[in-house]
Amino acid sequence: MALHYDILIAGAGPAGTTAALHLLGSGLQILLLDKAVFPRDKICGDALSGNVCFELEKLGLHYTFKFDQLPRVLPTQGIRFVSPQGKALDIRLKKTRKALHAPGYIASRVDFDYFLWQQVKQAGHVEMLEETTVLKADFFPDKVNVFTNRGVFSASLVIAADGAHSVFAKQLGYKLDKKHHSAGLRQYYEGVTGFAEGSLIELHFIQNILPGYFWIFPMTGGRANVGIGMLSEAISKQKINLKQTLQNIIQRHPTISSRFKNAKALEEPKGYGLPLGSRRLPASSHRLLLTGDAASLIDPFTGEGIGYAMTSGRLAAETIKSININDYSEDSLKNYDRLLWSKIGTELSTSYQLQKLLSYPWLFNRVVNKANRQEALHELIRQMIEEPDRKKAWYNPLFYLRFIF
Ligand SMILES: Cc1cc2nc3c(=O)[nH]c(=O)nc-3n(C[C@H](O)[C@H](O)[C@H](O)COP(=O)(O)OP(=O)(O)OC[C@H]3O[C@@H](n4cnc5c(N)ncnc54)[C@H](O)[C@@H]3O)c2cc1C
Repeated sequence: MALHYDILIAGAGPAGTTAALHLLGSGLQILLLDKAVFPRDKICGDALSGNVCFELEKLGLHYTFKFDQLPRVLPTQGIRFVSPQGKALDIRLKKTRKALHAPGYIASRVDFDYFLWQQVKQAGHVEMLEETTVLKADFFPDKVNVFTNRGVFSASLVIAADGAHSVFAKQLGYKLDKKHHSAGLRQYYEGVTGFAEGSLIELHFIQNILPGYFWIFPMTGGRANVGIGMLSEAISKQKINLKQTLQNIIQRHPTISSRFKNAKALEEPKGYGLPLGSRRLPASSHRLLLTGDAASLIDPFTGEGIGYAMTSGRLAAETIKSININDYSEDSLKNYDRLLWSKIGTELSTSYQLQKLLSYPWLFNRVVNKANRQEALHELIRQMIEEPDRKKAWYNPLFYLRFIF
């Protein structure tokens, strides 16, 4: 007979580990499994935004404090946006969370995900299995049977946190839609020069890769996370070779290439998909909650997904704690969808509008030029990035009218 758990969490990335940590003390029997052995790499830009800092604080100050002490974690003061015309707009963020001394960080996923994994391990109440790959799941009225390479586990409810290629999302019939999906490449470098003071992360919106961008994120030890991400639909339509485009930018771009003159690539470019939150898929079903990339929750403008993965993990745990174990029905779990979209829906839709605005590069150029001239506008943009409630202002056509006339 299959071993039975109250909750089975499939995948131990930020979504899965955050869910596990928020379920500590619930009295539920939890299994957290992952196909990898930790510490493990994950292809990513490694930028930890204010949302991640917020979620660390939500876990408890104890975790925030421990995170701040980690080696190889670089504090960043903000973002440098480079317009298609090549002009930089530096936004230095102010808001920091308790026990943290910066508004954001850059940390390799080997380190960050292992940190979260270790916190679950040290808490001691969650059974953890590595090298355990979910193959499929059978849903019954009273339980779920999860088939893995190590046998079958049964659970009253599954939290699917198994990332962009989620077995559970596929079983629900979710298909990759190139309008709502980006492809990304990451390549670690050492010796890249020319970073802004305050270790700003850099997003370069280069004309021929819109909607998408080339990034350079500084890291500790003289390293940098370099990469490119672009909407899959545009890649197909324009027949873009992403690897070639990345190399062209690094070797030939008029302002970027000189910064790589003495730089050394530490790996070949590595690719992975980004399921974007520009469409709302149901995130719950009978005895199932989808979180993070499995639920397609990546910001369609910035490509940020770690914070949303952690938020969804937290909300999945809150939903579970709010209902009786005998009532993991489709109806009662729908509350998770409501909760999720009420918290992150506006941010994701606003980002979708911003992604669409990239079809008007001249407008982007004007926003950057004018914000560099007008302090009040610069400050407004900072607030619109920093404050989730103010993000709606990006929606307002009146905001853009001032750049047209
Ligand atoms: C190129 C690129 C750059 C990015 N840059 C950034 C960035 O700078 N900042 C940011 O916030 N976000 C970024 N993202 C997005 C971010 O990586 C994801 O949104 C985030 O990792 C989602 O977390 P998750 O826990 O949902 O999934 P993951 O982090 O993918 O974790 C899923 C876990 O499930 C496990 N798993 C998968 N399948 C199975 C299976 N069948 N059985 C068992 N275990 C399984 C995996 O081993 C993994 O540990 C980037 C993404 C890409 C591709």
